[in-house]
Amino acid sequence: MDLEFKYPDKPKAELNSSLLVFKLLNNPLIVNISSKATLLALKIGLPISFAIKHTIFKHFCGGETLQESVKVIEKLGKDKICSTLDYSAESVDSTKFFDKTKKEILKAIDFVKDNAFVKSLAVKPTGLASSGLLMKKSNLDELTANESDQYSSAIGRIDQICNAGHEHGIDIYIDAEESTIQKALDDISIDMMKKYNQEKAVVYITLQMYRKDRLAFLEELIGMAIRDQYYLGVKLVRGAYWEKERKRDSRNKERDIVFLKKEDTDSAFNRAIDVCMENLDALHICNATHNEESSRHLASAMSKKNIPNDYHAIQFSQLYGMSDHISYSLAKAGYNVSKYLPYGAVKQVIPYLIRRAEENKAISGQMSREAYLINQAIKSKNE
Ligand SMILES: Cc1cc2nc3c(=O)[nH]c(=O)nc-3n(C[C@H](O)[C@H](O)[C@H](O)COP(=O)(O)OP(=O)(O)OC[C@H]3O[C@@H](n4cnc5c(N)ncnc54)[C@H](O)[C@@H]3O)c2cc1C
Repeated sequence: MDLEFKYPDKPKAELNSSLLVFKLLNNPLIVNISSKATLLALKIGLPISFAIKHTIFKHFCGGETLQESVKVIEKLGKDKICSTLDYSAESVDSTKFFDKTKKEILKAIDFVKDNAFVKSLAVKPTGLASSGLLMKKSNLDELTANESDQYSSAIGRIDQICNAGHEHGIDIYIDAEESTIQKALDDISIDMMKKYNQEKAVVYITLQMYRKDRLAFLEELIGMAIRDQYYLGVKLVRGAYWEKERKRDSRNKERDIVFLKKEDTDSAFNRAIDVCMENLDALHICNATHNEESSRHLASAMSKKNIPNDYHAIQFSQLYGMSDHISYSLAKAGYNVSKYLPYGAVKQVIPYLIRRAEENKAISGQMSREAYLINQAIKSKNE
């Protein structure tokens, strides 16, 4: 079976505005200047939120609030694409902030629990727990009594979210972050899976396949899930922090975390898909990628095993505003597809938008391809 990824039919005005966003993001100079300038302008209170909201924010986010995001959720839903809500609030190291994030996420679960187009929610652990503590835990450093209390509160917040997801039928994807804190995130994800994945995978761990150790870790996770009798929920990504991790590796001879060649990450990713497919009784998989080859790889593995396209334990996922040709084509062919849909105040979402820009500036190809595809779609409308 050969899947054809075709750009969806959209109004010309929408295509033109998307093209403009991608053209801007394709320019490293503009991205560099605007990332820094944007942060500074917001810091000193310049009124640029309006301009951002109606361009790049609109392209990559659902809205500033849950209510605002409903429009996008329904629009995607009409084309059989679900939304994975992603409350965007990044890294302020304070209990007040972590509690607020938790409250917002619980509110989101309550808001969407009866919405047929939202079946999952993303959780970025550094929105709920101190990075410093996560790093200490990852390094197996001793915590003071006060730090231990703070850490238990952080676990409590994540637990409450997973519990609410379990109760209301919303899957919880725990995002992977930088390797300096990932060991703690892995341990938390495993504990939550043990607790909430008895009947199905509710909680998902994220594996960044640019890491050399993740294939062996996947096998280990599968072994653990079988032994302890719970479903492994696994979200596969290539990883968003490659540049940073590579720099860390090159500064420290003891460290050798990420692959240096893109092909190695690609093979590890596709091999991880194969390993998941060989163990489908024990796990649920979310194939989170914009890579056409990896999307085809899973689809063809399913077809070879005669697994129906809408098989409940297999999900494809892309970020909202990216790779619509993959999402819409997969959804049309009957696969389970979702889009990560960030929402939150413009100011709070800026770091997410900068990450999208940086990621695509560093790795040439994807965005140019986005621009190319949109351009083709515009041309075909003019014919
Ligand atoms: C739904 C969804 C959820 C996500 N959640 C997370 C998350 O929790 N944590 C996270 O870190 N990321 C997450 N991401 C981001 C994801 O990691 C990036 O989108 C991804 O890195 C882009 O890769 P791709 O699979 O789309 O394919 P491609 O665009 O084909 O691959 C690009 C990726 O390949 C890797 N790469 C590039 N050059 C090299 C090189 N020279 N050597 C080795 N590897 C290289 C990098 O990881 C790079 O990002 C998520 C993405 C999606 C779609």
